[in-house]
Amino acid sequence: MPRYTRPTMATRYRCDACGNLTRFDVVATRRTRSFHHFSVGGDLSIEDEEVLDHVVESVTCRWCGAGGASIQELPVGGGAGGTVPSEEAS
Ligand SMILES: [Zn+2]
Repeated sequence: MPRYTRPTMATRYRCDACGNLTRFDVVATRRTRSFHHFSVGGDLSIEDEEVLDHVVESVTCRWCGAGGASIQELPVGGGAGGTVPSEEAS
């Protein structure tokens, strides 16, 4: 079974209502399997986390509060004309 490779960047979003590209509340469900490695003393380190399922339930703009159809998903990593939205000052 091939190992699931996580994307290094999540999906980007854009708010059509106000043009926001950088601030969103994202509600998502993530189901993962990971190796919980306990030391003898009981300290936990989590290794080899594998995302089994990742469902984005809702995205809301932090600036104007718009959600639903106002939020557009932007493809990450090219494919749409090569125009990468510029990062806004934070
Ligand atoms: Zn907005």
